[in-house]
Amino acid sequence: MKNKKICILGGGLSGLSTAWKKMRQGHEITLIESSPQLGGVLQSEQKNGYLLDYGANTLSLRNQETSDILEDMGVLKYALDANPNANKRFIVRNQKLVSLPLNFTSFLSSSFLSPLGKLRMCLEPFIPKGNQDGMETVASFISRRLGKEALDYCGNPFISGIYASDPETLNLANAFPALFRMEEQYRSLLIGMVKGKNSKKKIPKTRLLSFPEGMNQLAVLIQKNLAQDHVYTSESVTSVTNLGKGWKVKSVNQAGNISEFLCDEVISTIPVDQISNIDWENIKGQENFTNLMQVTHFPLSMVFFGMDREEISHNLDGFGFLVPEKEKLSILGTLFSSTLFENRAPKGKVLLTTFVGGERMPELALAEDEQIYAAVEKDLSSLLGMTSEPTFRHIKRWKQSIPLPDKKMSLRVKAAKEISSLNKGLYFSGSALSGVSLPNCIEADIT
Ligand SMILES: Cc1cc2nc3c(=O)[nH]c(=O)nc-3n(C[C@H](O)[C@H](O)[C@H](O)COP(=O)(O)OP(=O)(O)OC[C@H]3O[C@@H](n4cnc5c(N)ncnc54)[C@H](O)[C@@H]3O)c2cc1C
Repeated sequence: MKNKKICILGGGLSGLSTAWKKMRQGHEITLIESSPQLGGVLQSEQKNGYLLDYGANTLSLRNQETSDILEDMGVLKYALDANPNANKRFIVRNQKLVSLPLNFTSFLSSSFLSPLGKLRMCLEPFIPKGNQDGMETVASFISRRLGKEALDYCGNPFISGIYASDPETLNLANAFPALFRMEEQYRSLLIGMVKGKNSKKKIPKTRLLSFPEGMNQLAVLIQKNLAQDHVYTSESVTSVTNLGKGWKVKSVNQAGNISEFLCDEVISTIPVDQISNIDWENIKGQENFTNLMQVTHFPLSMVFFGMDREEISHNLDGFGFLVPEKEKLSILGTLFSSTLFENRAPKGKVLLTTFVGGERMPELALAEDEQIYAAVEKDLSSLLGMTSEPTFRHIKRWKQSIPLPDKKMSLRVKAAKEISSLNKGLYFSGSALSGVSLPNCIEADIT
């Protein structure tokens, strides 16, 4: 295979992983990132002795492929495994924290669902296959296969925890392709799980990971192993031109200086809603850009509270908790960050990370700081027995948080493929196309 010059636009996890894989294939890569720092959404900061993660908090390592790539990048040896206690997860039911079952015995004894709700869930293997046209919402799938109570007390909080969205908005085939395929192939999820056939090879035991300096360290570690003279930060791409035989990428830095890069291929990993900031010149099938940029995402605020351990009566013995919409609280859920990973809080203190807003309450994510703090304090006081005000508070706001795998995702994926088929050497990737989880961004295969 001829070695190519490849320009990668965007230095988030998608861009960095693509750059790594292309470099390993022997290509010459140039990575261009508009921010001074690489990592995109992976942002970590030390404040008052607390280590805050503003974007992803955990990398859930399940697939052999992700594990192999991280190993090859040389980053896995630095990873920090979550505290084994973090296996335990809670939801709110009747305004109290209830632990979710970890096995069938605890499923029977747990009060996360009523006896009738559990019975309905157990009927899953007897439910016929649904319509396989790929248009079903996650809400319809869960209530059809597992029952309405499972939707209200598992599906709803789980979706707000991952996507800051509602199951009614998400498309099953885009959000959970493995579940969609499992029903298609085995009719039942339980039967599919027992037969254990999945297209992806799993590692023996799922690992929940971060890094000692927070999730941004993953980006820093990948960057260290890339060819340094070809990584440009504080350079915003302004135009991409199809030269017929090859491509020209132009960028501008903060001082207004313009740079030009000539290459054989361009791979854009910048968020699809920011693609319109770039002039795409001589591109065939321009009309596809409208669909490529179709994306829904809701505002989300992450609220960090630090305080003395004694100020909280709950054991904080788990990953954290999620709040079903039915419980009518202000927050979406809270991570027990200092239980999850070591050195997230000074000795004797705890760090809690609470999610506010999303599709459920977008206006609260955009409210004044004091209004957000008051809402979080009220909910945490009653749920965790928080007895005094936190001594440390901080808010990170995301005006547009997670690009949703709703029905628009099918449109943008189709449009990206169409543009690539018409323009040799132009590709699009990034979380809005590959799926948002960190393993999706790491594994994404562009060409
Ligand atoms: C609040 C939040 C919490 C999350 N939690 C988790 C979690 O716990 N676990 C998990 O698996 N996933 C989580 N995710 C999802 C995951 O973090 C993201 O899907 C992933 O990091 C996105 O990576 P990316 O490279 O595709 O995009 P980004 O990180 O957005 O990177 C795109 C990059 O392109 C750059 N760029 C934009 N325009 C230009 C331009 N013109 N020129 C050059 N560069 C440009 C941007 O500066 C940015 O660095 C979370 C996401 C959010 C927002």
